[in-house]
Amino acid sequence: MFCPFCSEQETKVIDSRLVAEGHQIRRRRECLACHERFTTFETAELVMPRVVKRDGSREPFNEDKLRAGLQRALEKRPVSTEQVEQCINRLKSELRATGEREVDSKLIGNLIMDALKDLDKVAYVRFASVYRSFEDIREFGEEIARLGD
Ligand SMILES: [Zn+2]
Repeated sequence: MFCPFCSEQETKVIDSRLVAEGHQIRRRRECLACHERFTTFETAELVMPRVVKRDGSREPFNEDKLRAGLQRALEKRPVSTEQVEQCINRLKSELRATGEREVDSKLIGNLIMDALKDLDKVAYVRFASVYRSFEDIREFGEEIARLGD
């Protein structure tokens, strides 16, 4: 990047360190022309798609809400906090991987169900019974029957 003091193109990095618990890199740079020093911060741009709700309204993706939903389903289940966090990170990557700027809340619900199915069957059934309400109860019953296999 250009030197903010003299607009020279050539700057060199004189120090580089991780900050914000490793989520950011702080770089000290020095301009090769005027020798002024300045700092840049580098973070990954993690843009989550917005969520289109059933009524058509939009809201920003809310990680806390996702976590709360998972924790509710996983209450008193033998699943560690670490596993929950891994699950959240995986869900977020899957959502970003869609490349969409907006996703249906239904898609998120389905991704959560798939994740819970692998993680904990009881939590899966809990989540699915709330999430799907009684929309397709027969299909859901068949699903539960298959879990015994
Ligand atoms: Zn300069």
